[in-house]
Amino acid sequence: MNIDYAERLKLLPPYLFEEIDKAKKKAAGEGRPIIDLGVGDPDTPTPQFVIEELYKASCDPTTHKYALNRGLVGLREEMAKWYKRRFNADLDPADEVLPLLGSKEGIAHIPLAFIDPGDEVLVPSPGYPPYNSGAIFAGARVHFMPLLKENNFLPDLDSIEGDVARRCKLMHINYPNNPTGAVCDKAFYEKVVEFAKKNEIIVCSDAAYSEMCFDGYEPPSFLEVDGAKDVGVEFHSLSKTFNMTGWRVGMAVGNREVLNGLAKVKANIDSGIFTAVQLAGIEALKQGDKVKNAMNEIYTKRRDVLVDGLNEAGWEIKKPLATFYIWAPVFGDHDSFSLAKVLLEKTDIVVTPGNGFGLSGEGYVRMALTVDPEKLAEAVDRIKKTFFG
Ligand SMILES: *Cc1c(COP(=O)(O)O)cnc(C)c1O
Repeated sequence: MNIDYAERLKLLPPYLFEEIDKAKKKAAGEGRPIIDLGVGDPDTPTPQFVIEELYKASCDPTTHKYALNRGLVGLREEMAKWYKRRFNADLDPADEVLPLLGSKEGIAHIPLAFIDPGDEVLVPSPGYPPYNSGAIFAGARVHFMPLLKENNFLPDLDSIEGDVARRCKLMHINYPNNPTGAVCDKAFYEKVVEFAKKNEIIVCSDAAYSEMCFDGYEPPSFLEVDGAKDVGVEFHSLSKTFNMTGWRVGMAVGNREVLNGLAKVKANIDSGIFTAVQLAGIEALKQGDKVKNAMNEIYTKRRDVLVDGLNEAGWEIKKPLATFYIWAPVFGDHDSFSLAKVLLEKTDIVVTPGNGFGLSGEGYVRMALTVDPEKLAEAVDRIKKTFFG
């Protein structure tokens, strides 16, 4: 039988990492000493107290049943408390907090609640892939907002023309940003609120990296600015904050009508988060503050080894104030892809080509700080000898 895929799958952008993935597997198979800076997944384990709570909770058979779709009251309360403590944002746990099976799930599903075929969605480029694919699945037309160096990797809202802005129903923003490592200030969020109000656009702010920050910098939340809750929601996650990517716990918080729409979609697709995982998530939120500083010290050290080292070698790269990503401009005659390829071929270092995150990511490669400083120093050494010797 001829299996024919739906149009929506054909509309997805080509998976540009395939060739790199293949080359990486081949190199690993040959026993080459790979240093993998390609994966945006914390390499350090989930805190012990979270694991212990999962064990304890999963021994209780009442956790084995379907979970309520909106999550445990206790989890929603803890999420609200965490937002209050961290951002001084007031959230009603009853309907202004919605637990998710990881924030990716909510990001990918939210357009289904608000987009009709032909509506436009504003998506940053480069950007986290589900902003685009979720919009495509809902039948949206995607309007990309380029994140350019000259704008400090913030979208230029003034450049979004009247007609496009009027057709738009939803927009994604993401600070601290993956893949550029850029941050924004409250003034930017104020501008977003104004833009969204004027054009009646639902704002989806993705703050997955708000706790991964360095040099005393503390990223703001979209919900810290006046009027934000009138126009949108913020996505957050335990994944990066508490080294819990595999656990699948995230949340959307903010506008209750927007969350009701997302909850309705979810009620028809999933059946909630394993209750024992929710109970472990409560512990993470309660006690996690003590983990944050230790984690960020680890990332600061890695960042400094890699960026200082490469800068010294002659590869000029900016130090990010947040996220574990280094957004490095290509050098020589290289484009994103050829640099990623030659780095792997000649130095056994895996990086991600920037254009894999969208056309406007061309001219950069992304390196993730998910390996030890010793390995990063080794990476610097190899790059220096091979390209700058
Ligand atoms: C990792 C990441 C997330 C978190 O995804 P989860 O589904 O919560 O694990 C969200 N947004 C961005 C930009 C990310 O890089």
